[in-house]
Amino acid sequence: MRAAVLHETGQDKLEVHDDIEAVGFGPGKVRIRVRATGLCHSDLSAMSGVLPQPAPFVPGHEGAGEVVEVGEGVTGLTAGDRVVVCWLPACGACPSCRRGQSELCLAGFMNAGTPNFRRSVGDVFGFAGTGTFAEEVVVDAGCAVPIPDDVPYDIAALIGCGVTTGLGAALNTADVTAGSSVAVIGCGGVGISAIQGARLQGAAEIVAVDPVRTRREAALRFGATRAVAPGELADAKQQLTGGEGFDYVFEVVGRSTTARTAYETTRRGGTLVVVGAGAMDDFLQLNMFELFFDEKRILPSLYGGGDVVRSYERTIALWRAGRVDLDGLITHRVPLADINEALDQMRTGTALRTCVEI
Ligand SMILES: [Zn+2]
Ligand SMILES: [Zn+2]
Repeated sequence: MRAAVLHETGQDKLEVHDDIEAVGFGPGKVRIRVRATGLCHSDLSAMSGVLPQPAPFVPGHEGAGEVVEVGEGVTGLTAGDRVVVCWLPACGACPSCRRGQSELCLAGFMNAGTPNFRRSVGDVFGFAGTGTFAEEVVVDAGCAVPIPDDVPYDIAALIGCGVTTGLGAALNTADVTAGSSVAVIGCGGVGISAIQGARLQGAAEIVAVDPVRTRREAALRFGATRAVAPGELADAKQQLTGGEGFDYVFEVVGRSTTARTAYETTRRGGTLVVVGAGAMDDFLQLNMFELFFDEKRILPSLYGGGDVVRSYERTIALWRAGRVDLDGLITHRVPLADINEALDQMRTGTALRTCVEI
């Protein structure tokens, strides 16, 4: 089957090969024919080395498809089921799962050193244990979450990462209050989803911050009340909050510089939500006086900060009711053969989400 492979960390192009097979099928596993996958910024971060990931590997962790084969002992799934590929499955038994914080379950990372694919020339890993830039993946049964028949694969794929992450940051982690002021720094697919979440919660002011004009325009369509370039944020803070700062600021970039800006843009006693996936050697500096005296709450949000399967169900309900726009997030579509085009659209910020049809 075909899959797109990054040969060495730091390279910026993928190569589509057709001599690759998904390995590891057996008890407790599921084989999925991937139908659609979104390109998430974390894929680029894994390629560049910002996020840890052994190479060579198949990127892609935001996918959906059809179950083709179910291993021994798997219950609740049969061939033909439509599923979202969940890169952070919950085991249901560890202390985090038992506390109801299944987003902190590490079960999905237990196989991190095990290759997911094989080529004639050697082993290939899958990003975050999945690797959805492939026609087929073999994953733990917990990574295959069934979806209703009315959810198209391209929409289901978005729910697999970006939308769950952004909406969850606003609904689960921040639990934005009605009438509040919000700023969202970074307006790709995840940031736009955070904006939609803040709107759903009834935020009065939602300021979108992004250097790319098309993304600022998109943010306004998705519920931002104002959209500014990074250099205009200080003015917006002055005008909208009297200089005090916003009740909630979402950092959706994953860099210490934007996190520092986000901290300074948050009002005293307000909430900074850290959504962006950053590097292990990028340190955020806070002084001990401001940390205690300004009483700003810093809330990291991993994969939407809540029960993942419940978050999927909630998103589908909101989408069906027309309360969140997921279709509008897909600005570009490419076949797997043109995957490098999709990477460029993500790098330049022209795409909110590119759907790769597989
Ligand atoms: Zn667990
Ligand atoms: Zn992602």
